[in-house]
Amino acid sequence: MKAELKPCPFCGGKAERIDFGPGDGENEGGSCIACTQCESSGPVEFGYKENFVSNWNTRAQPPAVGLDVTDAMATAAAREWCALTDTSFDRLTSYQQHRAMEDFRIVLKAALRTGGGA
Ligand SMILES: [Zn+2]
Repeated sequence: MKAELKPCPFCGGKAERIDFGPGDGENEGGSCIACTQCESSGPVEFGYKENFVSNWNTRAQPPAVGLDVTDAMATAAAREWCALTDTSFDRLTSYQQHRAMEDFRIVLKAALRTGGGA
């Protein structure tokens, strides 16, 4: 029985389950779901894996939280940073763009949390 995996929440790529075996160090015996395209992955789970697939699939939904940093905001920040460092955002690979956006998303979220009241 194979539950269907939703596509990657970041890039829409195909997700696949990875089962770690002998030789995989601390991950041995665990499983995780990872994107075959951008290599984003869920946490490595051990033992009880009943919610394993549903956790990934839940995560694949766009988060419905306030104070969210939109893709446009993260992209704008990444582009700005690229311009400052003489790098062309458009020449980065989609994986690099994604990583840059995720980095700025974290920074922007922290900024939003502290509020703009200063
Ligand atoms: Zn992906």
